[in-house]
Amino acid sequence: MANYTDIQCNICKRSGGIGPGKLRKFSGPVVAIGYIFLIPSVLGMVLGAIMLFSVCSAASHMEHAEGATGVAGGIVVFFMVGSFVGGLLGWLLTMNRKVLLCGFCRGVHAEIA
Ligand SMILES: [Zn+2]
Repeated sequence: MANYTDIQCNICKRSGGIGPGKLRKFSGPVVAIGYIFLIPSVLGMVLGAIMLFSVCSAASHMEHAEGATGVAGGIVVFFMVGSFVGGLLGWLLTMNRKVLLCGFCRGVHAEIA
């Protein structure tokens, strides 16, 4: 753990209040949009995994069902890829950045890579 106690805030000029913290990369409405993408896509991926499992188990119980299960499997995979892309976009929009925050003025002192 690094020691930040000697760092002086470049906004309020006080020392001892600097510490690591997290800030949203984007502003409130963008983060809200991110969650709108993120929540259904997580559900979509879980649903897709369940559907994929049921398609596979249905295929193992059926004879000569290659065509039908192929189509069903394709739809499920397409559904999962779509969910994944949506989730990735949502995750990017809700991502945090690591910063050094001042405890006194809540100002951002510096970025931590
Ligand atoms: Zn400060």
